[in-house]
Amino acid sequence: MTKPQKAIIIGAGPAGLAAALRLQQYNHISSVVYEIRPKPTTLGGAIGIPSNGLRLLHRLGLYDNIRLRAAETSNLVLHAIKGDVIGKADLTSWSRDKTGFGYLRIQRTSLMDVFYDAARLADIPIHFGKRLVGIVENSDGVTATFDDNTSDTADFLLGCDGIHSAVRKLYVDPNMTPEYSGVVNIFSLLETIMLPQARLSLDGLNATLTTDGLLALCPCTATNEMIYWFFSRQLSMPPGGGGRDGWEEKGKQEVENLKVTLLELLKDTSGEWGDMWKAIINQTNVVKFYPIFRMVLGGQWARGRCLILGDAAHAMQPHASQGVSMALEDVFLLSKLLEIPGRSLEEVYAVYEQKRRPRTDRMSKMAERNGNVRKKTGPWQLWLQECAISGMMSVYNLCRLDRLGIGQKELAYDVEEEEV
Ligand SMILES: Cc1cc2nc3c(=O)[nH]c(=O)nc-3n(C[C@H](O)[C@H](O)[C@H](O)COP(=O)(O)OP(=O)(O)OC[C@H]3O[C@@H](n4cnc5c(N)ncnc54)[C@H](O)[C@@H]3O)c2cc1C
Repeated sequence: MTKPQKAIIIGAGPAGLAAALRLQQYNHISSVVYEIRPKPTTLGGAIGIPSNGLRLLHRLGLYDNIRLRAAETSNLVLHAIKGDVIGKADLTSWSRDKTGFGYLRIQRTSLMDVFYDAARLADIPIHFGKRLVGIVENSDGVTATFDDNTSDTADFLLGCDGIHSAVRKLYVDPNMTPEYSGVVNIFSLLETIMLPQARLSLDGLNATLTTDGLLALCPCTATNEMIYWFFSRQLSMPPGGGGRDGWEEKGKQEVENLKVTLLELLKDTSGEWGDMWKAIINQTNVVKFYPIFRMVLGGQWARGRCLILGDAAHAMQPHASQGVSMALEDVFLLSKLLEIPGRSLEEVYAVYEQKRRPRTDRMSKMAERNGNVRKKTGPWQLWLQECAISGMMSVYNLCRLDRLGIGQKELAYDVEEEEV
């Protein structure tokens, strides 16, 4: 096979822009990116990126710019519902040693700014307001057509267009659909200055389990002047299966009742932690409501010259903070495979899938397991849960189980070491 020269990339999120950059830097393949939105926009909030993802951002040349905008959030501090600290852990004590990178939390807008700046510097064309309506291919190439009657042709096409991927629906595997995870996230950003003095001792991710979900906060800027906080809870689907209207109505109700719900859940929380949450609840004016969907495991990722990457292929619950890192790993493996001489695209995609699927399935299941702690529980079960967590964290710290990499091996995984 002659080496591919040009790629069409659908979607200018982390997967799409990382792919365009990597293909240019490493494979000398030029890309044209097509984005459905009229201009750069994100869902908002902040993203956690652990060691495995940060290492790849470093290889892309983006780490330093991200570090300048992000907070280091390797430390996890768990508070009981009464407010006292029941456990602390450094989530990357071992993986940081292995990779050289810890755990950063960055505003989604800042992360995308870094990607867009890099794409601009690399002269990667990004066309906005482009809705994909068709894909056809033949032995010479693949053509994508958009709803403004424009089209483009390339050697291969990457569907990096997120969980509701048009590339997947129109071409690669229309039968593969997302499913509701049973969990919603409500989140906001707040200036730290609005919080009590105790904010100064906040370090990393601080969280508390309630009878009705998980509440957490962490800084998300390098100088800690902004925090990201979220409430993640189990919630049934709206009646009738949850179309857009159903979710909008449900979201509206959740947001309207949020302050009352949280104050009720935290009525026994005292001390600095209790004061912190009361201030957060009072000072927050805008929250976002987001029902968490995920891709069902399985399905097809490749067809002909097209491959879906990132959330389009394996969107997972955000409860392992691995979505962006998985997209980066996808990109790096594909890029490595494309460099092996003599392989057809079909062979490249087959090996890609064989190597990526076990890893993304594992991370997806891990995220689902982490999501389960958000499920509703009673006060006694919560107390038992707190005792169990506190016990486990004490044993982990006392026995220095982190030295064996327990709980951190996945964060030191290096996709470029895969035998291909
Ligand atoms: C509440 C929440 C919290 C999260 N927290 C974390 C976290 O802490 N850490 C983490 O790593 N991940 C987190 N994630 C997951 C993370 O956001 C995703 O895994 C990541 O954004 C996937 O990147 P992507 O490029 O594959 O898809 P996306 O980010 O969805 O980007 C897809 C892009 O394609 C565009 N697009 C869509 N359809 C089309 C079309 N038809 N044509 C052209 N363009 C199209 C979209 O507009 C978008 O720009 C979270 C997700 C949610 C919902």
